[in-house]
Amino acid sequence: MKAVVSIDPGPPSDATAPLEPRSVNSARAFMGCALDEARAAEREDEVPVGAVVVLDGRIVGRGHNRTRGACDPTAHAEIVALRQAALEVGAQRLVGATVYTTVEPCFMCAGALLHARVERVVWAVRDPKFGACASLGQVLGDERLNHQVEIEEGLCADEARELLQQFFERKRAAARG
Ligand code: ZN
Repeated sequence: MKAVVSIDPGPPSDATAPLEPRSVNSARAFMGCALDEARAAEREDEVPVGAVVVLDGRIVGRGHNRTRGACDPTAHAEIVALRQAALEVGAQRLVGATVYTTVEPCFMCAGALLHARVERVVWAVRDPKFGACASLGQVLGDERLNHQVEIEEGLCADEARELLQQFFERKRAAARG
């Protein structure tokens, strides 16, 4: 069969090639799972934030914000997910793990991510009021600490932002009666 359209195969792949489409899809899929967790929080009338912990391409921990329901100021999505992951893996350190979270981690969660020795954190939207990784501090990259966590931001930002905006709009409308 004669090819009608020629498709440029692009440069040959090598170690320095940019991120493969497959890994981008996986990252989106993992952030999609974090967004599902955020929606679960919303259904429980909690601020919609969700997180998953990925190790060797598999989700080993997931969690959503449940500070109200659990009456626990430390029950942030990342903490809940890290606890589950550590139990699943059977180790307090999650070396090589990537955490996908829908909102920039706060100081407490950034501290926990450092203690857990995770390798990378990907978040969707910044938190100008509590964010400790870009907005109010750069805790994860502080070279005075004995571990640094790679960061990436902006993945699925529109979805995460929309969830938060809708939640707070509903709260404001309810407060107005
Ligand atoms: Zn937090």
